[in-house]
Amino acid sequence: MNFKDLTVPSRVAEIIKEHEFRFKKKFGQNFLVDKNILDKICDAADLTESDFVLEIGPGIGTLTNELSKRCKKVVAIEIDRDLTQILKETITADNVDIVEGDALQLDWQEILRKSGWQKETVKLVANLPYYLTSALIMKALEGEVPFQTIVVMVQKEVAERMTAQPGTKAYGILSLAVQYYSQPQLVTNVSRRVFFPAPDVDSAVVKLQSIEPPVDVASEELFMVIRAAFGQRRKNLKNTLKNLTTSWNIAPEKVDEIFHQLGIPVNARGETLSLQKFGELTRALIHGRNFC
Ligand code: SAM
Repeated sequence: MNFKDLTVPSRVAEIIKEHEFRFKKKFGQNFLVDKNILDKICDAADLTESDFVLEIGPGIGTLTNELSKRCKKVVAIEIDRDLTQILKETITADNVDIVEGDALQLDWQEILRKSGWQKETVKLVANLPYYLTSALIMKALEGEVPFQTIVVMVQKEVAERMTAQPGTKAYGILSLAVQYYSQPQLVTNVSRRVFFPAPDVDSAVVKLQSIEPPVDVASEELFMVIRAAFGQRRKNLKNTLKNLTTSWNIAPEKVDEIFHQLGIPVNARGETLSLQKFGELTRALIHGRNFC
């Protein structure tokens, strides 16, 4: 079979018919049928012959096949047993390992090691199932596998949240988490028409380039502050932090003093603070906690 055929809708329809495959909406199954977008994803990953790639949700193998031509090894995790059966036919390259299971639950480091990964450069490249996007991105960013680059197709709104700047509607916990671990970049917007079947939403490809965290403060406390700040969107920052500062034994006057010292207006809302400002605030609160 010509691999390129997998981007042709009529060929995909044929494979689906041959295997009597039924799309499972709960698994977010929308297959990419556009060679141009496929190339843009693979090009953005800047693959080399020594790279390992982890792919989540290979589907019928369209992206998997293209990736396999450009890197040392592709390890792809697919939850749907019906698809892993189809993949036995559609994947013919010998540098692809298919693992059946739930990508959210599995230990990625162990899976990669079993496929011969010995700390070579590793990249995550995937057309993600949208119902799990944020959880999978957080697992990739916070987990043990040191992804150098992540290139993922996500829902357009999620791409906007990842790349959002302070003061915008899309800015929130996901923006801050992504920007703490990586430099995000929009690769391209993607029409819903390039999928089979077409989903109800438009998509975008984003590239996250791993970086050293730009904020020098304990990440656990930083994200405690960030989560609290965005916990109640309509309240101002000082009020949203009340439970946290109380549990850290920091007196309200001390919190006021910290806000004043950092130049944060008393009525400021969390969504106006940059990652750097959240870092400064967290550092000051940790300091305040230690001195109470
Ligand atoms: N990569 C293929 C493509 O581009 O055509 C398919 C992408 S489709 C949007 C998402 C894929 O993720 C489906 O194959 C689906 O079965 C799979 N999937 C859904 N949930 C998953 C999970 N928890 N773990 C692994 N794969 C999952």
